[in-house]
Amino acid sequence: MTEIKYVSTRGNEEKLTASQAILKGIADDGGLFVPTKIPTITKKLEEYISMSYQDLAYEILSMYITDFTEEELRFCINSAYDDKFDTKDIAPLVKCGDDYFLELFHGKTLAFKDMALSILPYLLTTSAKKNNLEKEIVILTATSGDTGKAALEGFANTKGTSIVVFYPVDGVSQVQKRQMTTQEGSNTSVVGVVGNFDDTQTAVKEIFTDKQLNKEMFEKGYVFSSANSINIGRLLPQIVYYFYAYAQLVKNNTIKINEKINFTVPTGNFGNILAGHFAKKMGLPIDKLICASNENKVLYDFFETGEYNKNRQFVLTSSPSMDILISSNLERLICLYSDSNTTKKLFTQLNTEGKYTFDTKINDIIGEFVTQQETSDAICEVFNLGYVMDTHTAVAYKAYKKYLKNNNDINKNVIISTASPYKFTEDVCKAIDSKYENIDAFVLLEELAKLENKDVPSQIKEIDKKEILHTKVCEKEEMKELVKNMFVK
Ligand SMILES: *Cc1c(COP(=O)(O)O)cnc(C)c1O
Repeated sequence: MTEIKYVSTRGNEEKLTASQAILKGIADDGGLFVPTKIPTITKKLEEYISMSYQDLAYEILSMYITDFTEEELRFCINSAYDDKFDTKDIAPLVKCGDDYFLELFHGKTLAFKDMALSILPYLLTTSAKKNNLEKEIVILTATSGDTGKAALEGFANTKGTSIVVFYPVDGVSQVQKRQMTTQEGSNTSVVGVVGNFDDTQTAVKEIFTDKQLNKEMFEKGYVFSSANSINIGRLLPQIVYYFYAYAQLVKNNTIKINEKINFTVPTGNFGNILAGHFAKKMGLPIDKLICASNENKVLYDFFETGEYNKNRQFVLTSSPSMDILISSNLERLICLYSDSNTTKKLFTQLNTEGKYTFDTKINDIIGEFVTQQETSDAICEVFNLGYVMDTHTAVAYKAYKKYLKNNNDINKNVIISTASPYKFTEDVCKAIDSKYENIDAFVLLEELAKLENKDVPSQIKEIDKKEILHTKVCEKEEMKELVKNMFVK
């Protein structure tokens, strides 16, 4: 296997091994790590079709994390994708009408973040061992709602790590908030931030790149790392399920082997869809990736015009995990389509002016956006067909329908389903029937279960009765000081 090395998108850093890049999270120059080249699959596609999720994960990840031994990598995979997931398939493909939904919410926290965050702690601790790092790893995480809980679950009580999660105090759903504030584990901290996700993510990135603070932390025996999708260790495990979805379509005779398909991905930080782009570059027959945005449609505008402009009103929507104006992982796409000089220039400009223009046309990613009303209508429409979508999945569903209206595309399409509807009961139930308006989010858990004739998922059953353990709230300007107080004072 050829060794794959990692470099910063902004070009100012030496080449790192996979384990070093995973440990580091973000490059010193503020860029993100990318492989110097994307490996292509060496086996015939046929060979991947009947593999278990775990074996497929090994095939894909071993092409990227080339400094792990087979034993190490299999240990990480088998520890992550076990009965924490409530289905043996890990990522089942579900058909409703003519549509296919790839359900990525069967992990512990009921959102797709579990797909990568159940393996990241193992990748990180194995990387630490490999590099003889004897410091404690401090995971700093900004969350738009789902990453926080998934990272907390992944890292809680993991030896040699601590985790601090910052979430926008008014920018997450009731269930999301309760999931985080009831988190147990002596190494976990959860803090609400007065501000939106972008403010939170920007402040966290600043803490990561603060040389003085990093030095003080190091002297006290700590190093920072990231559980956000800026960490390449988050991105790589997400490539696997694109292959897995394809395999399921072949297995049930929906497509012939090598037939091209599309994916529609509800997008925020651009991590999930970027993994799809990697899968395509590796040789998976993907034609179009449809990038679905909510009313924070900065990516839609970018794919339409080439101008990325975050100077606009931030909208709080019913799909909070996509309420983002700075989609960090787009930097990796730009870098793949240009070079590190261009990337550095554009992203410096984004920092100073809040916008940039990229002239290269990206043809295989199509932007669509969906309004709040359309999202709600889509949930109701699909409920009447017998399937309950969460608000994020609904954005993707509707985006695909809008795409179809304007394009004569006969490819089969997979809608990436990123969260369980039980995480967003208020908006989901209200969309189905207005009688649910103004009813408590936790009462609606039971109501939704009744509607579906199912049980409330065990992962969040009776969550409203759990003790709240984290109540801290701070201003975004106070985040750095708070971290300092936790570790270096
Ligand atoms: C994080 C998240 C998204 C957006 O994914 P990105 O990788 O940030 O683009 C979409 N839906 C849900 C439910 C999420 O948690």
